[in-house]
Amino acid sequence: MKAIVVGAGIAGASAAFHLVEFGAEVSVIDNNATGRATLAGAGIICPWLSHNRDRHYQELSFAAFRYYPGLLARLAAAGQSNIEYDLVGGLAVGESRQQLDPVVRRLENHLTNGVKEVGEVRVLDQGGPKRLFPYLDSRLAGVYLSGAARLSGESVRTALLDAACASGVELLSGEAVLEQSGKTVTGIRIDGELIAADVVVLAAGAWSVNLCRPLRLELALEAQRGQILHLKVPDANTGKYPVIVPVLNDYYLLAFRDSRIVIGATRETGSGFDARVTAGGVAEVLRECLEIAPGLSTATLAEIRVGLRPMSNDGLPLLGRPRGVDRLVVATGMGRYGLTVGPYVGRLAAQIAVGQTPEIDVGAFTPER
Ligand SMILES: Cc1cc2nc3c(=O)[nH]c(=O)nc-3n(C[C@H](O)[C@H](O)[C@H](O)COP(=O)(O)OP(=O)(O)OC[C@H]3O[C@@H](n4cnc5c(N)ncnc54)[C@H](O)[C@@H]3O)c2cc1C
Repeated sequence: MKAIVVGAGIAGASAAFHLVEFGAEVSVIDNNATGRATLAGAGIICPWLSHNRDRHYQELSFAAFRYYPGLLARLAAAGQSNIEYDLVGGLAVGESRQQLDPVVRRLENHLTNGVKEVGEVRVLDQGGPKRLFPYLDSRLAGVYLSGAARLSGESVRTALLDAACASGVELLSGEAVLEQSGKTVTGIRIDGELIAADVVVLAAGAWSVNLCRPLRLELALEAQRGQILHLKVPDANTGKYPVIVPVLNDYYLLAFRDSRIVIGATRETGSGFDARVTAGGVAEVLRECLEIAPGLSTATLAEIRVGLRPMSNDGLPLLGRPRGVDRLVVATGMGRYGLTVGPYVGRLAAQIAVGQTPEIDVGAFTPER
């Protein structure tokens, strides 16, 4: 079977990796668009505190979390050793223990339901969070959970793609359009050249909406700009800091091994494909995050990234074969949680593309809904 994957973000790279494992001949096409979400993604992997409480989404994201360790072990065995993924734990922070009660109840509920990956849950009095993440306001209280992870989405994406290419996947550069004959997708065209395929996996992130329009398939999907800042705190040993998820607002902080702290992010619904850094966006992230972590005000502002999240209208991914279009599998719409669910969504997309029954029920994610 010949399969083409459009888009080499975290979803497309994973789809290619799994397709070749399932025996397909695979080509991946990417156009290096400005605003690629995977490159900008923060890297918080903590599905149990997610804003999205939909039952289907929870099932998907919990399964995706459980899928990560085995996948990373397979990538390591294939020689991909540069992945940054660490179980550093997470901290929900607020002004009082009372404010954090709903978080504690939610986590305890997950544990009661057998979601043991949440790990140890511990309530911290005022000042406790600052001992784990020294830049925080000393008045903050917190709830610590040991199961949360942080990763570099780009390192996972690159590892998946490199491993796929080592197994024979062809990587092409260029802007793809879908080729159709009646209701059937027969391949893609890049720079006028036709590449035929038995199945096309569309994993072009927010841009998937444009690729589907000529098929009269209107995806309920839009680009949402996210601006995110990378700070440097020279000489600080940041490798073990937990990820910080405030209950006071919608912003977050996380640290990486190289004395780097990432703070974010804007959620600019209606931005369209405008991937600029804006004065207002940077001011917003700095204002909100420095309020939680005033100790970072003297850090170096090292880098600003911008990504376009592929946001579906209802917060669920768009995954599966769209009704009325043959030989196409859509794998996008992962919005704010694509680094968490992307590798697993890529696997499910590959299962669907080769005609297997996906290992979890994806009925709620039909792309044409
Ligand atoms: C600021 C920010 C912070 C985030 N933080 C987190 C987080 O902490 N945790 C989490 O789980 N998720 C997070 N996310 C979400 C996550 O990053 C995204 O959901 C995920 O990266 C989407 O991956 P993707 O592969 O679908 O899309 P993308 O990474 O955007 O990849 C799509 C690819 O398709 C290519 N493409 C587009 N059109 C074409 C075409 N016509 N031909 C060929 N190629 C094409 C593009 O070049 C691109 O490489 C964050 C996102 C942002 C923006």
